[in-house]
Amino acid sequence: MHKPKTASRTVIARTVIKAEPKAPRYVYLFGDTRADGDGSMKPLLGGKGANLAEMARIGLPVPPGFTITTEVCTHYYANTQSYPSELAGQVEDGIAFIEKAMGNHFGDTKGLPLLVSVRSGARDSMPGMMDTILNLGLNDKTVVALARETGNERFAWDCYRRFVQMYGDVVLGVQKLPSEDHDPFESVIGDLKAERHGHREIEDTKLSSDDLKELVARFRALILKRTGGEFPQDPSKQLWGAVGAVFGSWMNDRAIVYRRKYGIPSEWGTAVNVQAMVYGNTGDQSGSGVAFTRDPASGEKKFYGEFLINAQGEDVVAGVRTPEPVDQLWRHLPEAFAKLEEIRGTLERHFKDVQDFEFTIQNGKVFMLQTRNGKRTGLAALRIAVEMEQEGLIDWKTAVRRVPADQLDQVLAPVFDRKAVKAAKRIARGLPAGPGAASGRIYLNAERAVAAAGRGERVLLVRAETSPEDLRGMIAAEGILTARGGVSSHAALVARQMGKVCVCGAAELAIDYTARTVTVAGTTYKEGDYLSIDGTAGEVYPGEIPTAPSEVIRVLIDRSFDVQESVVCQSFQKLMGWCASATKMSVRANADTPDQAEYAIAFGASGIGLTRTEHMFFKGDRIDAMREMILADNLEDRRKALAKLLPYQQADFVGIFRALKERPATIRFLDPPLHEFLPHTEDQQRDLALKLGIPVEKIARRVGELHEFNPMLGFRGCRLGIVFPEVSEMQARAIFEAAAEVERHDGIHVKPEIMIPLVGFKKELDLQVELVRRVAAEVAAERKVKLTYLVGTMIEVPRGALTADAIAQTAEFFSFGTNDLTQTCLGMSRDDSGSFLPPYIEADIIRKNPFASIDLDGTGELMRIAVEKGRRTRPDIKLGICGEHGGDPSSIKFCHSLGLTYVSCSPFRVPVARLAAAQAALE
Ligand code: PEP
Ligand code: MG
Repeated sequence: MHKPKTASRTVIARTVIKAEPKAPRYVYLFGDTRADGDGSMKPLLGGKGANLAEMARIGLPVPPGFTITTEVCTHYYANTQSYPSELAGQVEDGIAFIEKAMGNHFGDTKGLPLLVSVRSGARDSMPGMMDTILNLGLNDKTVVALARETGNERFAWDCYRRFVQMYGDVVLGVQKLPSEDHDPFESVIGDLKAERHGHREIEDTKLSSDDLKELVARFRALILKRTGGEFPQDPSKQLWGAVGAVFGSWMNDRAIVYRRKYGIPSEWGTAVNVQAMVYGNTGDQSGSGVAFTRDPASGEKKFYGEFLINAQGEDVVAGVRTPEPVDQLWRHLPEAFAKLEEIRGTLERHFKDVQDFEFTIQNGKVFMLQTRNGKRTGLAALRIAVEMEQEGLIDWKTAVRRVPADQLDQVLAPVFDRKAVKAAKRIARGLPAGPGAASGRIYLNAERAVAAAGRGERVLLVRAETSPEDLRGMIAAEGILTARGGVSSHAALVARQMGKVCVCGAAELAIDYTARTVTVAGTTYKEGDYLSIDGTAGEVYPGEIPTAPSEVIRVLIDRSFDVQESVVCQSFQKLMGWCASATKMSVRANADTPDQAEYAIAFGASGIGLTRTEHMFFKGDRIDAMREMILADNLEDRRKALAKLLPYQQADFVGIFRALKERPATIRFLDPPLHEFLPHTEDQQRDLALKLGIPVEKIARRVGELHEFNPMLGFRGCRLGIVFPEVSEMQARAIFEAAAEVERHDGIHVKPEIMIPLVGFKKELDLQVELVRRVAAEVAAERKVKLTYLVGTMIEVPRGALTADAIAQTAEFFSFGTNDLTQTCLGMSRDDSGSFLPPYIEADIIRKNPFASIDLDGTGELMRIAVEKGRRTRPDIKLGICGEHGGDPSSIKFCHSLGLTYVSCSPFRVPVARLAAAQAALE
């Protein structure tokens, strides 16, 4: 037996390590084609740190640096904002490593001083939400050394000016006061420009070294005045100040809002990256840029991004100067451009995904400052995944996983109605930053945009440029329009991620925040006026323009567009094909009309999971017959009214069965609270009395009798069919006669699945099933056909779930009605919970809205019990879900884990659900 020996060797080895405990490691070095960490260490090093390490490993030109781990962030918050004792020494070693690799020293006044950047880096990127400091290490002395050693005085003072400004803002907290209109540092710059150059708007590049020296002096005076303390001169003190500020920014307001929206746990913490500075602002052989290996808006395989010559990275994203497209870089710096093209290929081959990277060119040499998987629109995600599979970069299973399920409905998003947009006159052009079409009333600040959306208005948020403070307004808006900034500006990044329509950098817009107006092409628009934007073309139109269906809809539904002309639709179909081979769980649709059934089938639904028959009674004058039926106070009158409804129902079912061909259809018996159908105002009651030829008093009295305090828990569901069996009889007859008709006329053999709602007792179901079987036998005999059908129930009250073993003796299938099951399990009204759910989410009592995503511990547990008990009685019982959760990716994942046969959702969610089901199966 060799085993014990090996085991004891392991034990010895472990003991040895234990005897000499290593200090915990908080700092990981990278650069110079080596790295302590690698790309797999995102939880510890954050996304940026892990990828810097990975890029160094594969030989890309990364300036040397080190990452302080996320564990330090956790420690910082758990220990009254202090650091582990080992950290100081490890940071010192880190600085020594950078000094050695760069060949210069921190705080050096004799040679070229080492300067560093200090940046945040969480596990998942949170663009623009946390703080960054650049040019750290400059002070009154090192700035002189930098000027001397680079022979470029203006450059040195520009760096110092930027550093004092950033440090003053981020670390020392000198920020705009509520009483101020502008950032205080920007006001100082504006004043100096006005004094020395005649107006405030001249470009920063026009400022001389003397101007910049004066700015530094004025900034320092501002800092002293606001904080009562001097700007620190000691580089080491600067460094610790910056590290503390970056860790501190993990808990700032906008980072918290962002984490809440994207479900990022606050326990993750951020890492801090300290890295040698390289300079894009040393002259016209230098520059900075941000690029994507493919177009993140459309997914097209082309080099995409932008750059500025003689600028630092922040200038590109700040939106102050308008950058040039990256494919124009070859005109300025052809060698650097060729190097970047080469890096673009290396990145995709290595990371096997679209990369979003930052680069700096210093005197013609390219440096990589960051790379990460590029955020992309749902449309781009689809195209990129499919094309990368075709290029052999990834396999089809990876491609399926790559497309975020809840973004797939973007490919179904509307575009402007072509004719209407042709007739409209474009008033401005900007950059296409978030695809789709949006029309709405304009608002110029986030607060008013949120308020307007709260009033039910469709809102366009219009800003000169956006900043993270605008996040709430962006969430509330249909679309975002900015006057400044490029495709990597804050507005563009965030819009893309949220799937919002966005046009940015529409320079013709003159925005007046005080007057709350936008003037463009000679017209002034006030807040509340309509504008329309096309985020695919980057265009702005006056007024409200009707929208039209997307390419996918036009190919698959309207059949007005050929699939050969639509790359998007081809990719869509390819993806849907892969989804079909990944999972057995099918996706049905909730559909009440033949049209809806057709849409659903075009998107790949396998049948109907829920027809709400009551929806069929709202059309035309059917509602009158329905009201007559409800108001009847004796059986005979009720039968008369039902006889009027029968032909309508039957015709509807014929239409649906024809649309479905042989696909299954689950039809639910009447469910709604009766009051939904009744005329409530005096006028309505008088009208109905006239139509039905009965006294209005009788109607008013009957409405009074039927009044319920809790209609959702009242006389609805199977209770109707139990008390008035003639209603269920009519419905069963309509279904079976329609089935017989379609069989005879069209040769389509349908197998309806009749579903009894709101069952809590086996006996309720028994009574209804008995009735259904009797009517089926009658119709079969009358029509001389053989009918095949199933009868089952919804599981949508806790008692039904808890007694599912008994119910399954009768039920041939279960379908979870998770709307009602959530309402009854949580004791929260599905209609009234809107008032307290948001504060509940804010207080972390619940993570997600339980009516949108299944509450796994409560509602989910009831489902689990029902599945288990149902299968115990009837091992092959068919199981589905038809509540709204059937279209929610995380709920679908849960349904997959329960082994449900299908999920059913609204027709336009079918692609999302198919993708989510496939992803659950591949997990
Ligand atoms: C449900 O309760 O989940 C359901 C599908 O039925 P309805 O929404 O019609 O009550
Ligand atoms: Mg229900």
